Amino acid sequence: MSVHAHPDDESSKGAATLAKYAAEGVDVLVVTCTGGERGDVLNPAMDKPGVRENLAEIRRAEMAAAREILGVRQRFLGFTDSGLPAPGEALPDGCFALQPLEEAAGRLLQLIGEFRPHVIVTYDETGGYPHPDHIRTHEVTLAAFEAARARAGWQPMKLYYHAALSRDWFLAMHQAMTARGIDSGMADLLEELPQPAIETTTRVPCAEYFETRDRALLAHTTQIDPQAGFMRHPRGIEREVWPTEDYHLARSLVEVVTPEDDLFAGLREPVAEGVR
Ligand SMILES: [Zn+2]
Repeated sequence: MSVHAHPDDESSKGAATLAKYAAEGVDVLVVTCTGGERGDVLNPAMDKPGVRENLAEIRRAEMAAAREILGVRQRFLGFTDSGLPAPGEALPDGCFALQPLEEAAGRLLQLIGEFRPHVIVTYDETGGYPHPDHIRTHEVTLAAFEAARARAGWQPMKLYYHAALSRDWFLAMHQAMTARGIDSGMADLLEELPQPAIETTTRVPCAEYFETRDRALLAHTTQIDPQAGFMRHPRGIEREVWPTEDYHLARSLVEVVTPEDDLFAGLREPVAEGVR
């Protein structure tokens, strides 16, 4: 179970991992807390009449397309996007970030009880990105993980936070592109990027699924500019220098040895039978 704030987050964070496990036969559920109703149109080609007015509906269709490409199941929790308020600006009434934690975690617990995930993935306490919905997604998921046995009748065994696209990733990509005479466009970003606060414990090899990840990302047509940002770096270089997506193991109820290369490490072996 991979818990995200908005449609498109599942494709920009850990998508190759989801596609890989789905292809291997794991039942993968993406949970999307909000509908992304207050998002911007980030692809200039999609900034045209009729798009902003119908953004909620368009993003549902984009999510459905991405879900098909990744080969996963997906459910909305049904909360409303909080938007990204300017400093000092209040959050809009009724938005996800203002929901009582208990109520929001209750909806996720309902899904945990139905789906019975062994592993849950979400963001760390910083949200990975300073959007109120991302931080709330972390809080809700952590609260649900901790209350799951008592309130959902099912205890997931491992909880992970995304650790992908770290400073080390940008540095490795920048150096490899520079060495090949390609302008990475990452130099300014590298100046600002701090070292991550969380340790990478787990690197999942998934380079074969980068192409699937890219198709899922591009299915979010209002959110991804095919000419800019993450779409710009050469995929051959990425597969060579960073063929994994990375995670931080935040909670584990099974014995593990880190570093790991599998989110299900410790759950596949017969020794895990007893904890089912
Ligand atoms: Zn988001």
